[in-house]
Amino acid sequence: MGMNKSYNGVWVFGDYRNYFQNRVTLQLIAKGRDLAHKLDTKVTVVVLGENVHQYAMEYVAHGADDVMVAEDHDLKEYHLEPYADVLFKWVKAFSPEIFLAGATAFGRELFPRLAKRLNTGLSADCVALEVDADTGLLIQTTPAFGGELLAEVITPDQRPQMATVHPGVFQELPHNRDAWGHIIYPEIDTLPEARVEVLRSRRQQAHNINLEDAAVVIVGGRGLGSKEQFRLLFKLADLLEGEVGATRPAILAGWAEEDRLLGQTGKTIKPKLLISVGTSGALQYTTGIQGAETIIAINRDPSAPIFKMADLGLVGDAGTFIPMLLEVLRKRI
Ligand SMILES: Cc1cc2nc3c(=O)[nH]c(=O)nc-3n(C[C@H](O)[C@H](O)[C@H](O)COP(=O)(O)OP(=O)(O)OC[C@H]3O[C@@H](n4cnc5c(N)ncnc54)[C@H](O)[C@@H]3O)c2cc1C
Repeated sequence: MGMNKSYNGVWVFGDYRNYFQNRVTLQLIAKGRDLAHKLDTKVTVVVLGENVHQYAMEYVAHGADDVMVAEDHDLKEYHLEPYADVLFKWVKAFSPEIFLAGATAFGRELFPRLAKRLNTGLSADCVALEVDADTGLLIQTTPAFGGELLAEVITPDQRPQMATVHPGVFQELPHNRDAWGHIIYPEIDTLPEARVEVLRSRRQQAHNINLEDAAVVIVGGRGLGSKEQFRLLFKLADLLEGEVGATRPAILAGWAEEDRLLGQTGKTIKPKLLISVGTSGALQYTTGIQGAETIIAINRDPSAPIFKMADLGLVGDAGTFIPMLLEVLRKRI
């Protein structure tokens, strides 16, 4: 049981934007159920917006016991100040023991702000969550030092225990249309004004990332050194009619979108040809590419583990090699 008996329940922030692509809320509900079961409590999803009832129903179908909804025209668009305000007041009023959110653009902005206002801790980008059998505390496992170490973080005194989790870490429960739960509409106060005005919003013309089906995949790692270098991989992929994948450090550096992550916490692919550039070959990455038919690795360090699994290894500087390869291919194709 939790040390702090007055706090109860596992909450999940309902991040429903791009519902069909963004499954992280559903994944957190599944994990939340597991945690709630161990703590003998319930999973509640908190949804803010306008006309969000359909999402509340979906969350119940995916395993939420309760959904708390804040319906207001001023919550239609995500804005940090009013969102943080509603969540802050509800946490104070209902005292959840645990509060989880996806490490999406929203979760990453909202949760630090909320944790600060609540004067509690927050672990970002967790890769595992467990309940300590003895203390009932949430063990928040998060990569430290760029993924070299795993840190286990606890929040012994403050509540709620807050964490964000990357999409793809946990698995959602199947949709069960016979599931039932409570959909609650607690009162909301006058909302503070948002400090940003949205003049217009436009859907990004997301080019469909289909790494799982691509015959050719070029993967970039930390060794590329900069976004400019990483961008060259897209040119290479265009010429080879392939896709671009990335290791965790490349994603964390903002060189590529999260959807391109390969490995243990990302995608698993089976292309005919995989070119791995500036990647060391860490196990957490290579588990995602083991199914590739042919692997070509480029790394300036001849002892890099990636060469052990590569069919063809090139020891050299990616910054020199990639432009050369592009030039050769452009002449050929
Ligand atoms: C629980 C857990 C889960 C994880 N899940 C994932 C996951 O799903 N996917 C993932 O990718 N990682 C994951 N990681 C991180 C993983 O352990 C590695 O840290 C990561 O894969 C390393 O990425 P990298 O090879 O790009 O970087 P590094 O390991 O830093 O390697 C960079 C390489 O580039 C080479 N290099 C440097 N400069 C150049 C140059 N100019 N030209 C050519 N080569 C150069 C270097 O010799 C080096 O070998 C996870 C870690 C943990 C702890």
